[in-house]
Amino acid sequence: TAAGTEASPELREEYAELVDEVARHQVAYHQKDRPLITDAEYDQLVHRLRKIEAEHPELASADSPTQQVGGAPSEAFAPVDHLRRMYSLEDLFSPSELRTWYDRAVASLEKQRPGEQPRWLLELKIDGLAISLLYRHGELVRAATRGDGTTGEDVTHNVRTIGDIPHRLSGTNHPEELEVRGEIFMPSEAFEAFNQTLIDAGKTPLANPRNAAAGSIRQKDPAKTAQRPLSMFVHGLGARSGLEPTSQHDAYETLAAWGLPVSPYTAIVDTFDEIQDYLDSYEQKRHDLLHDIDGVVIKVDDFAQQRSLGHTSRVPRWAAAYKYAPEEVTTRLLDIREHV
Ligand code: NAD
Repeated sequence: TAAGTEASPELREEYAELVDEVARHQVAYHQKDRPLITDAEYDQLVHRLRKIEAEHPELASADSPTQQVGGAPSEAFAPVDHLRRMYSLEDLFSPSELRTWYDRAVASLEKQRPGEQPRWLLELKIDGLAISLLYRHGELVRAATRGDGTTGEDVTHNVRTIGDIPHRLSGTNHPEELEVRGEIFMPSEAFEAFNQTLIDAGKTPLANPRNAAAGSIRQKDPAKTAQRPLSMFVHGLGARSGLEPTSQHDAYETLAAWGLPVSPYTAIVDTFDEIQDYLDSYEQKRHDLLHDIDGVVIKVDDFAQQRSLGHTSRVPRWAAAYKYAPEEVTTRLLDIREHV
């Protein structure tokens, strides 16, 4: 649905500036772990970019930030090519966007696999850093960040310092090659305590658990990472030669049996109303959890159905992230109210 009118010179200029600005924030956030603006502010810039691209597809180029996963890997680490690509997630910012996405997924599944209803795997969207762990015959041989989805950064030495991540899987019959995907995070309580020690030592506290996790994993010296309280929960699989689970939650059960950490918050549901209930209930509880979240991830559970729905160049069509309204805004509103 191309636009009727051609983009004005002003709009072209705004677009070019936005592309630069978003790219600059991606570097600050993904490579330097030092965001210059809040996530909500960043999401607004991207939203504006997408809007212009939707109205004027002729402006959008393949290197637009809307077409890419994260940022380029930093040169401070050795590059690692993922065996299977890592994706980002489509963001949904309102119940009506969720409804549209849900209806589209159900309709497209009905078209490709008539009579099949998806079951939904619901997970919290952990505010941390994506990681891919490569196990060969049950042995952890490499850990890499997502990077641009194709090439990540080798952070094996740092990841080996995280107690929750097994160096060797328990049990037997492990796949020849297995890429376990998950999120590394700093648990909320540990983050508070760690920041307190920094404050007591007269140092600058870390901005938030997400940046703390990302900054901790991307240290040059593993001894520094080892001092940081980090955890991980599994949220997906990449390459898996010799492992044939039928669904994602099946896979989690197998991984848990091998000693990998899986989230206690996962649920499986059948209906849209149940998805809505899960969203509402965790929005209430979001400050009483083991880790920070910025939303909920909704996934089609069945692997055959996932394969039928496939991916775009940036995101899977079988999963989406529902983002809760940003809390920064609430805080600011409260601040303003305090002053009136
Ligand atoms: P994203 O973080 O919105 O979603 C994709 C990621 O979610 C996955 O790669 C995965 O690591 C993670 N995730 C967490 N829990 C998951 C689960 N249960 N299942 C699957 N995946 C799960 O997208 P993104 O492309 O990584 O980055 C965009 C995010 O980064 C936005 O929130 C944006 O606001 C923020 N950002 C902020 C700035 C800034 O300047 N403040 C700059 C760039 C990006």
